[in-house]
Amino acid sequence: MFRGNLPALRRGACIALLIAGSTACLAQGNQAQKSNPTPKPPPALTSNYVKTGLYFISGGGGNTVMRLSASGIILVDGNLSENFDELLHRIKKIVDQPIRVVINTSHYREHTSTNAQFLAEKINVIAQENVKGNLTAYNAAGHTIALPSVTYDREQALHFGPVEVRMLHFGNAHTSGDTVVYFADLRAVALGDLYSANPEPDLKAGGSLAGWSSFLGEVLKLDFDVAIPGNGPSVTRADVEACKARIDSLLAHKSMQRQPEKSSTQLAQAK
Ligand SMILES: [Zn+2]
Repeated sequence: MFRGNLPALRRGACIALLIAGSTACLAQGNQAQKSNPTPKPPPALTSNYVKTGLYFISGGGGNTVMRLSASGIILVDGNLSENFDELLHRIKKIVDQPIRVVINTSHYREHTSTNAQFLAEKINVIAQENVKGNLTAYNAAGHTIALPSVTYDREQALHFGPVEVRMLHFGNAHTSGDTVVYFADLRAVALGDLYSANPEPDLKAGGSLAGWSSFLGEVLKLDFDVAIPGNGPSVTRADVEACKARIDSLLAHKSMQRQPEKSSTQLAQAK
């Protein structure tokens, strides 16, 4: 996941490069030109098969989940805008069908920055309604990302023939606008940033560690055996249970830290 401070770091890196570049130009007159590092090619995207009708494209910022249906493709998260053409190319190599809808699992740029490009192709972008506010705040911090064209509150199902795509929001977790996408017939979920090796809620965007735990508790009530996170390889139900356990132990640790004063008072009262 990309955090709010990353763009600032990137700008910092650009400035540093510019300064280094001008130093190199000044130095050229005095000494032999040092070999310029060749610019890195953009990271290639990789297609990953999950189950019949379910793939995800990884790399270049995050995962884009791809659910096939007889009437077109459903995408979950759209990667970075600079990877748009490569993403379409990867999708077309799997199946040459129209994209019907794009779902944003949260507001961060690796999930949303192709929104404008999809919207320009008359493809609807759907997200939980709090993504609009989070994205507006995120944009105010220097991004220019298009808002979703459709939003929902708690639950929204889309039907493409027999294929059902269910968007679920169980309250504030990593942010206030997280969506889990459930493909019931495939027993699969797209988790976005709700699966994390190092769970850290984005408090500025309405995140809550306790909410995150109960959100995953609700997800674990669904019948699934594979989950696709916002980044990295697909994981199992046991991995999602372990993620929830990590969050619960962080919560327990936090409440232990808060407890002593209260407990000693309670102990004193009990005497
Ligand atoms: Zn992310």
